[in-house]
Amino acid sequence: MIKVEHLSKRFGAHTVLKDITAEIRKGEVVSIIGPSGTGKSTFLRCLNLLDQPSGGSIEIDGVDILQHKADVPRIRQKMNMVFQSFNLFAHLSVLDNLTLAPMKLRGLSRAVAEEKAHELLRLVGLGEKAGHFPDELSGGQKQRVAIARCLAMEPEIILFDEPTSALDPTMVSEVLAVIRRLAKEGMTMAIVTHEMDFARDVSNRIFYMDEGLVYEEGTPQQIFENPQKEKTRAFIHRIRSLQRRISTADFDFYALNAEIETFCERQFLPRAARHNLLLLVEELLQILRPRLALSPIDLAIGYSEKNGSLELVLESDGSAGDPLEVTNGEDDLSVSIVRGFTDKVTHHLVNGRSRLEVMVRKA
Ligand code: ADP
Ligand code: MG
Repeated sequence: MIKVEHLSKRFGAHTVLKDITAEIRKGEVVSIIGPSGTGKSTFLRCLNLLDQPSGGSIEIDGVDILQHKADVPRIRQKMNMVFQSFNLFAHLSVLDNLTLAPMKLRGLSRAVAEEKAHELLRLVGLGEKAGHFPDELSGGQKQRVAIARCLAMEPEIILFDEPTSALDPTMVSEVLAVIRRLAKEGMTMAIVTHEMDFARDVSNRIFYMDEGLVYEEGTPQQIFENPQKEKTRAFIHRIRSLQRRISTADFDFYALNAEIETFCERQFLPRAARHNLLLLVEELLQILRPRLALSPIDLAIGYSEKNGSLELVLESDGSAGDPLEVTNGEDDLSVSIVRGFTDKVTHHLVNGRSRLEVMVRKA
């Protein structure tokens, strides 16, 4: 359906896309992942000609859209895009947001456009909101309107550029659910996203972008479980784990908590697992706090999607031994709490450091 060959894009002297060769077939869902600044948005914008490519070719259904005198509005209709920031028309009602382009560009009558709009709003769960204005809606609702508006153009492929990045974490799943539904119905889609579990289970293929290239591509299983190239591996590892060094007893506990919460949201960890993890971090740092006088504490959280395990590792000064070893009559409330929220705790000495490995209970 879409065939891209040797696509490049420069902004002045800055080459963002070096040489992209890729194909998206009809009915396929491709997720595009990678560090920020690697040209993911630029790639999507080149596909529907919001950015003019510097070189290479883009074929849609066999027609090179860069060679011929391209009918740009028609291409954008075929390949409609949903943006991170919704881009709704604030001065128009939800209904008018959906009918404007179909009436203008596709020549639909108002009656037909409105009927179709109502149907699409029901599809995204917003049948009741037709008469509302965008600023009366939550972020998740706005993005669902944007998706309905995109569908109103009857695109053959939808390009999503980080559709959930501007949303409160509580609203991510309602938007992803709509995208999942479209995938199930066979819509062809290219989705730039940081929601890795979503990418994994909604996609047929994953493109990992780096160095101005589709650096590695494969099935979700190949990319997430067995990436072949070093940078892909490092990226996948980094997003699956969180590492922090705590150097003083005055560290910013709230900032750390917030980082852990964001990490859990990205991994789609169940609420109970997140709760248990936060509680364990708090209790264990409380227990280990005296050791900060001797050496920093290294904290690592790792989530393995493969076996669903959530592991917390804390390394601290080794001279004091196992921090969970309670000696007679000490206040062991923290220790009991820790034991209550873990499936397994092990302690080793590694290179003179005390290493506590905690399997977090997920329910
Ligand atoms: P990503 O979506 O992967 O984060 P982008 O495609 O947004 O990356 O950007 C890739 C690079 O291209 C960045 O270094 C960015 O600064 C640059 N860039 C993007 N758009 C423009 C533009 N219109 N003019 C100049 N540089 C741009
Ligand atoms: Mg981007």
